[in-house]
Amino acid sequence: MRFDIVTIFPQMLAPFFRQGVLWGAQEKGLISVHLHDLRAFSPDPRGIVDDRPFGGGAGMVMRPEPFFRAVEAISREAGTRPYVVLLSAQGVLFRQALARQLARKGALLLLCGRYEGIDERVAQISDLELSIGDYVLAGGELAAAVVVEATARMVPGVVGRHESAATDSFYQGPLLGHPQYTRPREFRGLRVPQVLLSGDHERIRRWRLREAWRKTLRHRPDLLGLNLEPQVDDSR
Ligand code: SAM
Repeated sequence: MRFDIVTIFPQMLAPFFRQGVLWGAQEKGLISVHLHDLRAFSPDPRGIVDDRPFGGGAGMVMRPEPFFRAVEAISREAGTRPYVVLLSAQGVLFRQALARQLARKGALLLLCGRYEGIDERVAQISDLELSIGDYVLAGGELAAAVVVEATARMVPGVVGRHESAATDSFYQGPLLGHPQYTRPREFRGLRVPQVLLSGDHERIRRWRLREAWRKTLRHRPDLLGLNLEPQVDDSR
């Protein structure tokens, strides 16, 4: 699968994609990640990509032309028009189910904004306006990294022996993942639950399911359709 990211800060993302699972997937040829400097697509010889907002207001807005030119040039280079994702706090909320859908697209092109955001006309060349959460970041780069990593993990073969997507949170329905333990069996008085040491696979399966429900109820009751406040210990 091919990922292209357009940003004014490609160097911010370059080291991120040279580590861990994503780097391994690139080395195996399962995915490729291409970073593009938005300024290279600016019609302005100085590479300017922003301007003052029409109608007044604080800050600068990113001009549409560099984004249009970037989508056209990258489509030519890729030999296909990728599925274009515009990263925006105003977009639909990114979820695991969406990551799975995006992983079937074959080629994804992510557009990162900065400043006060991107000229609204860029939404017209985008297939999806996507938010990674109900908060505002300074730019789309971290959001792009989140979307690429979650999507790439859904590409067959990317998640290997050391990780398993099937037991992850959200993978099967709305449940969070079950708690995990490793050695030592006891550490500063904190013990691994006895059932996990029992070797009884059916009991372990039932315990994990119960704990996943318990955790979901405590942290994310909304996933179970319950209108309860998550329980956060604010005594600390
Ligand atoms: N004025 C915009 C608004 O009210 O939605 C916020 C602009 S933000 C400072 C600059 C850029 O960061 C956006 O164009 C977008 O690309 C990115 N961004 C910020 N928050 C994001 C989020 N939650 N999800 C995805 N991208 C986000």
